Amino acid sequence: MPKVTLMFKSRDNLYYEFFIENSDVHIMNTLRRTILAETVTLAIHDVYINQNTSVIPDEVIAQRLGLIPLRVEPSELNLTEEAAAVEPDLKRLYKLTARLRLRKINTEDATKVTKVITVYSGDLESIDKKTLRPIYDNIPIVKLGPKQEIDLECIAKVGRGKDHAKFSPVSTVAYKIMPTLNVKDNCTSCGECVNACPYNCLEMELGKPVLKSLGLYNCDLCRICVRHCPEKALEIEPNNRDFIFRIKLIGQLQIDEILDQIDAIFERKLDYLVDKIEESINEYLKQTTQE
Ligand code: SF4
Ligand code: SF4
Repeated sequence: MPKVTLMFKSRDNLYYEFFIENSDVHIMNTLRRTILAETVTLAIHDVYINQNTSVIPDEVIAQRLGLIPLRVEPSELNLTEEAAAVEPDLKRLYKLTARLRLRKINTEDATKVTKVITVYSGDLESIDKKTLRPIYDNIPIVKLGPKQEIDLECIAKVGRGKDHAKFSPVSTVAYKIMPTLNVKDNCTSCGECVNACPYNCLEMELGKPVLKSLGLYNCDLCRICVRHCPEKALEIEPNNRDFIFRIKLIGQLQIDEILDQIDAIFERKLDYLVDKIEESINEYLKQTTQE
């Protein structure tokens, strides 16, 4: 059975590193792609511009608004339920929307002083969801010169990373396969491989090169050590069994919410597959009895 150890967690709860033993490359890849492309978050999708006298065109402002990461508490919008849904349902999707407003005027008098103000993501106000907020308040949206104004309303909708990258809850999710080192009998203990490693991963032990404990972590399987061995006595390969799994969250979902969604998505996909297999067996049996 796989064993998972949490190796590192950042103070802001946005970066995690796990050591996963006795698993498989396919499982790691499924996990990675599900987090990237299948989890459900909320992002601005439609923008209605009432007034924009800034120098930035409407389309550019709408594009910027779409990329602002938003968070809403699960008590107000349950995104895990949507992650588990088999088919998109318009009625359900309508309930999973939220409205935001952005109104700002630069009231500075142009004749006195030319003061430009910046409108930030923190100036967005939620209209219908108490807990909806931009995760970062300091993302610039537009600059307003004296007497310039921006007045718009946005509709945030749910979506998945495979629809658009703005829905993806992670900036990075990656895994690294741990290496295994094999030293053949013709090793002459010359130490060339140890000196060649650019990450200082190897050391000599009882006349043979071995991976240091930190070397296991740092080795990126570049195989420079292998190429520097004059005797061709060294082999280093991915073990395809043990992994370091790294995940950097943006903040729309917390790690436990992502795990809940993965659980729901896997269950839904497996149920769907099992149903389809059963259907195909029933169909086959029906055809053979008719014949
Ligand atoms: S594969 Fe590259 S990083 Fe790993 S031990 Fe060899 S030289 Fe160092
Ligand atoms: S370079 Fe080759 S021969 Fe020299 S210590 Fe490393 S494995 Fe042994």
